[in-house]
Amino acid sequence: MSFDVYQVRKDFPMLQQEVRGLPLVYLDTAATSQKPQCVIDAISRYYTHENSNIHRGIHHFSEQATSAYEAVREQVKNFIHARETREIIFVRGTTEAINLVAHSYNIQEGDEILVTQMEHHANIVPWQLAGAILKVVPITDEGELILEEYERLLTKKTKLLALTHISNTLGTINPVKKMIKMAHEKGVPVLLDGAQAVPHECVDMQDLDCDFYAFSGHKLFGPTGVGVLYGKAHLLEKMRPYQGGGNMIQQVSFTRKTTFKAIPHYFEAGTPPISGVIGLGSALDYLACLDREAATQHEHNLLEYATQQLSEIPGLKIIGTAKEKASILSFTLKNAHPHDISTILDHQGIAIRAGHHCTMPLMERLGLSATARASFAFYNTKEEADALIKGMYKVKEIFHV
Ligand code: PMP
Repeated sequence: MSFDVYQVRKDFPMLQQEVRGLPLVYLDTAATSQKPQCVIDAISRYYTHENSNIHRGIHHFSEQATSAYEAVREQVKNFIHARETREIIFVRGTTEAINLVAHSYNIQEGDEILVTQMEHHANIVPWQLAGAILKVVPITDEGELILEEYERLLTKKTKLLALTHISNTLGTINPVKKMIKMAHEKGVPVLLDGAQAVPHECVDMQDLDCDFYAFSGHKLFGPTGVGVLYGKAHLLEKMRPYQGGGNMIQQVSFTRKTTFKAIPHYFEAGTPPISGVIGLGSALDYLACLDREAATQHEHNLLEYATQQLSEIPGLKIIGTAKEKASILSFTLKNAHPHDISTILDHQGIAIRAGHHCTMPLMERLGLSATARASFAFYNTKEEADALIKGMYKVKEIFHV
């Protein structure tokens, strides 16, 4: 398989859009990815020809929708190399996956959860709501975790390590395999927030050996409203239900004890996002046809090129210079607020993100209120990186840097 970015782009209708008469330069994939036509078609086909509720019906289309839904569970299992299909729980996204664990994993008031300074709010607030005390692994100025501090903070009192695989603000790829091994040596289970990792690299639950893994469909070229929580079966089986309702029960009675289905259905109360799951399956099919190693290399080349070119702009500072980085590029420019940078770039058809990226504690650590962030996917081109660089020279001119 070879990788041809211009060919790949044809699969994504949004990338053919114009903004203010200019071609769209979409550099905001870390917020949400664009969707290939096959994903859009799969959702449309489902609603046009197959729409039915799952698991309950005995009629033809209900059985068909149920099979399609459950087939995607099998697909996800293979995609992340889980041991068993029942270890895959469909949820709304990364946020819900982490909330599920925070709610159901028997977290008691005052339990210690170890997080890092670079976590997304989705991996901070659910633990706070569960009454946990957060211990925080600090980072260097470059945006790398200080592993000596990690070792020190990881104790017998740690109930769980909840760690981002790749930082959505800094792009840092954390040494998760090593960290998981260290945690397990002390008997501490590990949850990885994989929201930014699955779009960039192949993840393998057997190899990583993490206990929980969370990700969102919409960052993985699939639809919004669907995500995955992977959990080791023996842990999931011990957890209490997240939500109650239809689909997750065996017997309900006013007079006897309500009984539940086994995992994964135990955690999927109510009508799930059926069309979303089917769209996610189509996104996984699409990725299976890509040379993912070549795609990741292409993203990396864009990151290196843009980093080097942007670094030459006087007054521009790259935020996050870890040795191991995914194609997420945060920066600031002297005198210019990131929101102004984003607005000026938008007028040139360039979509980036500006703000705290849902990582306020990280911003506090960096002494910033916001950054501008460009994020590259395999469908971005060198010409688009050039547009960003040219755009930033324009911003510099406007702000007399
Ligand atoms: N964690 C990380 C690292 C993220 O980048 C995001 C999305 N920005 C989330 C969690 C939350 O994902 P979602 O909004 O899809 O639930």
